[in-house]
Amino acid sequence: RQPVGRDGLAAYIRDVPDYPQPGVLFKDITPLLADAAAFAATVDALAELAGDVDAVVGIEARGFMLAAPVAFRAGAGFVPVRKAGKLPAPTLSAAYALEYGEAVLELREGTLAPGARVLVVDDVLATGGTLAATVGLLERSGAQVVGIAVLLEIAALGGRQALPGRSISALLQA
Ligand code: AMP
Repeated sequence: RQPVGRDGLAAYIRDVPDYPQPGVLFKDITPLLADAAAFAATVDALAELAGDVDAVVGIEARGFMLAAPVAFRAGAGFVPVRKAGKLPAPTLSAAYALEYGEAVLELREGTLAPGARVLVVDDVLATGGTLAATVGLLERSGAQVVGIAVLLEIAALGGRQALPGRSISALLQA
């Protein structure tokens, strides 16, 4: 099996026009996850960005698929940030705006020690609302967010403006 370089990863992301709704160009990462070499290259590249962290935080659901193996690779714990109603109390909640309506993300209180150093991993950075809500939850819980790493950044959607002053790394730009 040939190794896949970082630049080669783009070939494993499928563009799906008008999904899940008209006007959205959905970036489907399932071909990348299904390919052993591309998946390994992605996890290795994200884990290199982790540095010295206590935990890698993944956002439900596609973030879990990357953050859990990145945590394992980096020798760190894994912490899930979940959609509302999936974690037992006590939880911290953050509501954030979606293109239509709003969503709520939750973190189990007490999962992270005060001052814990965490890296947040997600698949796609679009408007940044999801990551901004996640960073807010983590900081309210007393954790220290040392970085954000995504597989793909859709730069035209301006997600970095929603995350001022944050260290954000993207393996690919769309
Ligand atoms: P946002 O909050 O706008 O930055 O959206 C980021 C979240 O929504 C990520 O968790 C992605 O999984 C998902 N997402 C947003 N836009 C896309 C897209 N065009 N393709 C795939 N996933 C997306």
